[in-house]
Amino acid sequence: MNLKKSLKSIKRKMYGKEKVFITIRTVYTHLSDLSNKEILDYYNVYSLSELEQHIEHIKMVLRDKVENYKEELKELDSCFCMDSRGDFKYLYPSKQEAERQIKFSWETKRVKLKLYPCPFHCGWHLAKV
Ligand SMILES: [Zn+2]
Repeated sequence: MNLKKSLKSIKRKMYGKEKVFITIRTVYTHLSDLSNKEILDYYNVYSLSELEQHIEHIKMVLRDKVENYKEELKELDSCFCMDSRGDFKYLYPSKQEAERQIKFSWETKRVKLKLYPCPFHCGWHLAKV
């Protein structure tokens, strides 16, 4: 009966180990064909715990990057919103400016636009109604 129990825990442990490799193969498609051993070699680590530490490190670096990226966005006063054609959308820092453009488009081109807040909170965008 103890054997059954320990087998279960070994299985669970193995699954836990596999999980890291599965995650890596899924996230990094260029590693998807590698065996567990090759993945360890790739990261230049010798054990699973080293690999896990390495992954934690990567996660931390990525988090920092995202933070820096947010700062950059603030500095640029810009965003990466795109329109349906994949072009960057024009950003209006002030609502009045956006409203002026709506008026202008209607008066000159009979194009009806509406404004909406940028999801990154950088300003306002216009969309066709
Ligand atoms: Zn935006």
